[in-house]
Amino acid sequence: MAQLVVGARAPDGLFADLKPPLADTLVVTEAARCLECGGPYAAAPCVVACPADIDVPSFITAIAQGRTREAAATIFAENLLGGSCARVCPVEELCEGACVLAKEGRRPVEIGRLQRFAADWALARGFRFRRAGVRNGRRVAVIGAGPAGLACAGELAAGGYAVTVFDARDDFGGLIRYAIAPYRQLRDPLPEEVRHIGELGVEFRMGTPVDRPDRLREIEDGAEAVFLGIGMGEDVDVGYPGGSLPGIWNSLEFIEAIKLERAPAVGRRVAVIGGGNTAMDVARESVRLGGEEVTVLYRRTEAEAPAYLHEVEEAKEEGVLFEWLTNPIRFIGEDRVQALVCQRMRLGEKDRSGRPRPVPVPGSEFVIAVDTVIKAIGQRPRTEFLGWIAGLELDGGTIRIDPLTGQTTRSKYFAGGDVVNGGGTVVEAVRAGKIAARGIDRWLRAERP
Ligand code: SF4
Repeated sequence: MAQLVVGARAPDGLFADLKPPLADTLVVTEAARCLECGGPYAAAPCVVACPADIDVPSFITAIAQGRTREAAATIFAENLLGGSCARVCPVEELCEGACVLAKEGRRPVEIGRLQRFAADWALARGFRFRRAGVRNGRRVAVIGAGPAGLACAGELAAGGYAVTVFDARDDFGGLIRYAIAPYRQLRDPLPEEVRHIGELGVEFRMGTPVDRPDRLREIEDGAEAVFLGIGMGEDVDVGYPGGSLPGIWNSLEFIEAIKLERAPAVGRRVAVIGGGNTAMDVARESVRLGGEEVTVLYRRTEAEAPAYLHEVEEAKEEGVLFEWLTNPIRFIGEDRVQALVCQRMRLGEKDRSGRPRPVPVPGSEFVIAVDTVIKAIGQRPRTEFLGWIAGLELDGGTIRIDPLTGQTTRSKYFAGGDVVNGGGTVVEAVRAGKIAARGIDRWLRAERP
């Protein structure tokens, strides 16, 4: 695979926030636009749309009335990663997309930026909103310090459980830390949120890979329940000829290099392979890194692309080009990648995913000159690791669970986040961690009183 890191430290300001914080002077005015929908018989649409179940009108009203600390308490009561989610949530698809103002054709309340304001305000002052529960003498292991694992661990610790989190990485956050595009969140406020979770009594064993069956067995033997928040594995590599040439990146490597403030040198012409949200992120980051001709190649049409519509539109506004119905088949280059041989596709019958299958058009090959290629095709399931857990049923490589409890088919194991949904949002992972924490609590009380 490509060099891990090239290029120099990113110039200051290159990765400025995609959605900068609201100016203090605008916060109250923006909060006052909220109509405080909902009531005793029906929740506000923004609350219904929030996977973390945050009481949006309550916290916005508190901001409007100058009770920022209460606003933050409302946010963190439901989401221990409320500051991170305020930055990385696709609010256009969730709370803001559901806001009644948007439904009336007006600008929705800027829920994400208001949440960011309250969360940052409180975290900067060291306020804490959750307390460690009275210890119940029961021990739970969490594998993975990403959003699902952190949410599950924090909720269990607040409920009195002794929780140990294991993660191969030295730093916390999983995909928030390493895979979310830096223009959404570089790092803060994650360290402070994790400190908060640690103060609930969660023990972190970072730099501890669970990379052998005997290590997993040891963890399993030392806990009454185990939560798997291990995410997905490496990027899918379809193995195109020439794929090992320098200048070809996997999307996760690419984002991680930028997140660690060692920005890749992308050259003038960048090709991004894939049609999902990660492809949009790496394309837009490539524009920021100086790519003058950044082109996304996707094998179906825009209508089938898994990326959110607004992400595609914003990428276009930033100058990203799109070649739909295009599939790369070979890389060309000597010392580094110089061109990509592609083939035109047409849509055929529907496949298992319900989308029309892309079918190659014979004789349609063409060549695109490139300096850098970034593959954003998806991630592999962690099949080897999951194979160590007897009785664990998978569904197309991801773990099958009871959606109401997070429990897997191996009763001691619970799971949530990307390892279950194949790659979702941070806030969906938080929700999954919360559901599993409640599921573990109920199961242990019932089965092992
Ligand atoms: S839907 Fe919009 S206006 Fe209604 S409570 Fe939510 S944020 Fe306020």
